[in-house]
Amino acid sequence: MGRVFNFSAGPAMLPEEVLKEVQDELLNYNNSGMSVMEMSHRSKPYEKILNDAIQDLKDVLNVPDNYKIIFVQGGASQQFAAVPMNLMKNKKADYILTGQFATKAYKEACMFGDCKVVASSKDKEFSYIPDCSDLDIREDADYVYICENNTIYGTKFWTLPNTKGKPLVSDQSSCFLSEPIDVSKYGVIYAGVQKNVGPAGLVILIIREDLIRDELDIVTPTMLKWKTQVDANSLYNTPNAFAIYVCGKVFKWIKKIGGLEEMKKRNQAKAKILYDYLDQSKYIATASKESRSMMNVTFRTGSEELDKKFVEEAKDYNIVSIKGHRAVGGMRASIYNAMPIEGVKALVEFMKKFEAENL
Ligand SMILES: *Cc1c(COP(=O)(O)O)cnc(C)c1O
Repeated sequence: MGRVFNFSAGPAMLPEEVLKEVQDELLNYNNSGMSVMEMSHRSKPYEKILNDAIQDLKDVLNVPDNYKIIFVQGGASQQFAAVPMNLMKNKKADYILTGQFATKAYKEACMFGDCKVVASSKDKEFSYIPDCSDLDIREDADYVYICENNTIYGTKFWTLPNTKGKPLVSDQSSCFLSEPIDVSKYGVIYAGVQKNVGPAGLVILIIREDLIRDELDIVTPTMLKWKTQVDANSLYNTPNAFAIYVCGKVFKWIKKIGGLEEMKKRNQAKAKILYDYLDQSKYIATASKESRSMMNVTFRTGSEELDKKFVEEAKDYNIVSIKGHRAVGGMRASIYNAMPIEGVKALVEFMKKFEAENL
């Protein structure tokens, strides 16, 4: 079997070009006589890999100088706890619940302080993003929290909430580097890289300097304290060196194709093909139109049996991992940065055929 169109929500596709480069360098990286996997994280060649990755990410995302970038482990899920531990001074935070990951983050934060749900879309199975232009943000809230792209439900914040001056914390795991953003609008951005950027096991954090503190008001393990890795340039302990190396290549790939402007164009083009087709078909698109994600496209046939059949038959067309999350059912096509437009076209062709035969 050749390579397939992998619509998995994560771990997900990586650019083929990047994989080939990694393959070329696997046994002997840049004449070092060893693989990056075997290399000391304190060695000169590795230091360059790390620093280039940080610089390339800064360039690609246009990160202002008053923000620090760190690479950590533990998954995005670990940050659900690290966020309140690092940011709570008044032990108060306001959360916007737009799906399962936001809810998990909220529950975790409730262990550390007084957390308030200031908006939620739970009333309609998280199928939309609520209006967040004038929320009841508390005067003494330490931060406002969002999950910017809801991987499971296929929705995205197209307008950031009005946080009334409080730092905005955003989980961008499934939309990181999919389009240009204004980093200065955020207090903290974080993302597990396995959705849109690299191999699993790595989280990238971009933190505004004034939010990186020495003395925390909550007892926090050294490894969960952001300052630890900021001060050590992400080398306090052994990092996921290989994942950082692959991410560094992906940053260079984004630069090479024309940066995030071009990335956005490509992502918009892919999403448009799929949504345009969905809207005139007999399939049911599950996310409300104005909140639709450009990365995760959720839909159903209307029958669980047919959904199952869809997922099975799709495999014959090289379309894999298109089953929806167990919380939602149906199908989910994750069309991250590395999904080629050909993959989306192949999916639509299959959907047409399946529709004609079954719907
Ligand atoms: C996948 C995902 C997570 C969980 O990531 P892990 O790295 O598995 O902990 C959190 N938030 C969002 C938005 C995700 O898509």
